[in-house]
Amino acid sequence: MEMNSLQDLMVDQLKDLYNAEGQLIKALPRMAKAASNPQLQQAFTTHLEQTKGHVERLEQVFESLGQSAKGKTCKAMKGLIEEGKEMMGEDAEPEVMDAGLIAAAQRIEHYEMAGYGCVRTYAQMLGNKEAAKLLQQTLDEEGKTDKLLTDLAEKVINLEAQ
Ligand code: FE
Ligand code: FE
Repeated sequence: MEMNSLQDLMVDQLKDLYNAEGQLIKALPRMAKAASNPQLQQAFTTHLEQTKGHVERLEQVFESLGQSAKGKTCKAMKGLIEEGKEMMGEDAEPEVMDAGLIAAAQRIEHYEMAGYGCVRTYAQMLGNKEAAKLLQQTLDEEGKTDKLLTDLAEKVINLEAQ
């Protein structure tokens, strides 16, 4: 594809995120199923609903750029989900499995946060306030999810795993 401007780069990065979010919608129900702690199950289920909203926001951002929403295989998300699957395939104690699922999920959240931070900044620089606002909203939700997982790990799950 054409890669001559910051806007071209932004579209390219949005396609990566759009595909990544789509992959995550398929993976999160499996992660919720693999979790034993009810709060962790709930965290994954809540984030699944949020993730559907992230897809919708990306569609609005594509629209604001006059582009149709299209994805491009995100190899990194594929790999991160693959690592999560590896974890789920382990014969682990439930508490240890939960701690491992959190580790996998936080890698995913941090990857998404990096991606959204970049495209949010491009949107600001390009003067696309609507896109910047939408992308910031998603970035905030990814950040809150990450924080929630940290709290759950530090206050409950890592202790049980120990
Ligand atoms: Fe997301
Ligand atoms: Fe996420």
